[in-house]
Amino acid sequence: MPDGDTIGSCLALYRFLVDEGHEAYIVLDDVIPFDVAGFIHEPIYSVADYDVLKVEANLVFCIDFSDLERLGEKRIPLMANLQTINLDHHKTNTYYATINVVDTHASATGEIIFDLIQLSGLPLKKEYAEPIYVAISTDTGSFKYSNTTGRTHSVISKLYETGIEVADINRTLYQNTPFHRLRLHAEAMNHLELYHHNSCALIYVSLEMLDLCHALPQDSDGLVEAIRDIRGMELVVFLKEIEPQIIKVSMRSKKTIDVSAIALGFNGGGHKHAAGFTLNMSLAEALNKVRILVGNLQ
Ligand code: 5GP
Ligand code: MN
Repeated sequence: MPDGDTIGSCLALYRFLVDEGHEAYIVLDDVIPFDVAGFIHEPIYSVADYDVLKVEANLVFCIDFSDLERLGEKRIPLMANLQTINLDHHKTNTYYATINVVDTHASATGEIIFDLIQLSGLPLKKEYAEPIYVAISTDTGSFKYSNTTGRTHSVISKLYETGIEVADINRTLYQNTPFHRLRLHAEAMNHLELYHHNSCALIYVSLEMLDLCHALPQDSDGLVEAIRDIRGMELVVFLKEIEPQIIKVSMRSKKTIDVSAIALGFNGGGHKHAAGFTLNMSLAEALNKVRILVGNLQ
């Protein structure tokens, strides 16, 4: 699922390109988390909708994803025979595009979009600064994670100069929890499994739990981070049943464990402290696989 960085970066770049007189389209074939939905004022096309438009594009920006597997089969109609520019900060990036701008020191892809706008010499407008703030704030856990640098803060200070309303943005992002989300988190917490003296945890959300709590798939957002934040917790593995045979695995670590290395072993990817992969099997089978994985960690 696209996150605040993906969407914020897309919006900022889109607005910049359109202001510069380019025809641009945001193509995003997934559920948009509702906390970032409030910042979108432009059309977002699914691959199917975009296909219908028969646009003769000559350039594709690939934003905030590390490898083409992330697009699945949908990349074919989108990217065939086109020049591509990969703007990303994942350390597992595979340099899949014609031009690859991969800055693993950038806290968020939003920081790279900021650089791009600065490099153009054109003014940084509030309309770009707001989604860049969303991108950086969400990918740094509100400036708490180790990807936050002095540079991140200096970028943020330049965003402030455009007059963005940070308190409003933060209210929309972080003080907007629908009640059924908490109900779902509570239900999942009831099934929490702990390993290695409570330093590793396994948690899952099944389709049945979503039904029970009248919740949406995106309502599991924030759960894995909440468990990671528990005192003494180093690793959390979260399994989310997307469909009966599609299980999305998200991992978070606090200090020492490099979860991107684990994710690569399952054809996934990500960052040192946040990474993921997909398992094509039932939830019960996936849980067993992950129980063995976590149990064997030292
Ligand atoms: P999340 O757990 O929130 O889905 O993702 C955490 C981080 O890992 C994000 O930066 C995301 O891009 C990356 N990630 C998650 N799943 C995958 C995957 O299957 N493949 C790759 N390459 N990256 C992933
Ligand atoms: Mn990102």
